[in-house]
Amino acid sequence: MNLPPPGDKSIFQRRESEARGYCRRFDVVFGSASGALLRDVRGREYIDFLAGCAALNYGHNDPDMSTALIEHIQGSGITMGLDLHTEAKQAFMTQFERHILAPRGLPHRMQFTGPTGTNAVEAALKLARKVTGRHNVVAFTNGYHGVTLGSLAATGSRYHRMGAPLAGVTRLPYDGYLGAGFDTADLLERMLDDPSSGLDAPAAILLETVQGEGGLTAATPAWVERVASLARRHGALLIVDDVQAGCGRTGRFFSFEGMDLQPDLIVLSKSLSGYGLPLAMLLVHPERDQWRPAEHNGTFRGNTHAFVTARVAVEKFWSGPVFQMEVARRAQIVTQHLERMARRVHGSRLKGRGMMQGLDVVSGELAGQICDRCFEQGLILETSGAHDQVLKILAPLTIGLDTLERGLAILDQAIAASMVLGLRQAA
Ligand SMILES: *Cc1c(COP(=O)(O)O)cnc(C)c1O
Repeated sequence: MNLPPPGDKSIFQRRESEARGYCRRFDVVFGSASGALLRDVRGREYIDFLAGCAALNYGHNDPDMSTALIEHIQGSGITMGLDLHTEAKQAFMTQFERHILAPRGLPHRMQFTGPTGTNAVEAALKLARKVTGRHNVVAFTNGYHGVTLGSLAATGSRYHRMGAPLAGVTRLPYDGYLGAGFDTADLLERMLDDPSSGLDAPAAILLETVQGEGGLTAATPAWVERVASLARRHGALLIVDDVQAGCGRTGRFFSFEGMDLQPDLIVLSKSLSGYGLPLAMLLVHPERDQWRPAEHNGTFRGNTHAFVTARVAVEKFWSGPVFQMEVARRAQIVTQHLERMARRVHGSRLKGRGMMQGLDVVSGELAGQICDRCFEQGLILETSGAHDQVLKILAPLTIGLDTLERGLAILDQAIAASMVLGLRQAA
């Protein structure tokens, strides 16, 4: 092979579509990774507070998952299995039932859609419309559900929606959208109750309990419970999009655990495989499982290699209470540090919960500067929110405490440096 020298990025500039995104901010060539660390081809190490946008909740290249996958491949295990019964799928489903669904009293069935989050959201919307015979869907301000046309209609971000004719979604204000004195569930209730409100009876109400891309706004349990009961009362399905907030990100396997509700449909993807392999699953309440055979078809439904690693993830992290305690400890450390950082930035606020927390620093420009400074110092961190104004910490849930502290120290110093620079520029 005659390849360009390490670190030469010209092929990306020459031939990769303008649609590329994350690589613009983190503009190096990465070569390897383990746990919470990434290395570029020049040998520089970075602490990963992006974690594949929450697709790497258990870090990079978990050794038990690597071993299981290598054994599967070397043993000529199935790679491509359509939706045939395979040993790997059987093992995953068995352990997912045993360690996740059964202990939580969830009777749901598992539907394997195409392997991305947006594929499973599309399946959820389509099923809700089929089951109810209705078309309209209620989604919320600053929600993010993917970029294929059906999911995109439910996504709030104008930047992502640009240029697509989208219909069939009524957008209503998320919890807290109109300030602390206004319960937006009141508006939803009023509009659902009033046949002349202009809101067509919805097939589904679609929500994230913590808005991952929309700025880490966490809904209160009381609000989510009220929306769930309104959905039930009005014959709409409740769809919880747990693509980002699920798989332990908020501290429990599902983001709605501890809330008094049971979603009709639950969407999982990102960290489901545990290894960063593409895998998406729609959990369907049996009463809602009204698909006819192969009605929602697709070639790549279920990813057999991902079933292998997903099974290991469930067994390794979710068969007992220890992992959840470790995640809670890390979340507490993040909160403590963010509280201290918040005092440096006038008007800033803590956002999110569990291991999807961040700091709203009011200005997208400031947040971007801070991220760039972090990257210079060896920390990968992204922004979120309508104005990219929220510094978003998505460290692997398995991150070592010393690495977590090191990453948070880099962030703290980057904030401090940006504030000093800001003051100088103002003077
Ligand atoms: C990332 C994300 C999606 C879309 O998943 P893709 O795999 O990017 O299609 C949907 N919903 C939420 C909440 C997400 O964070």
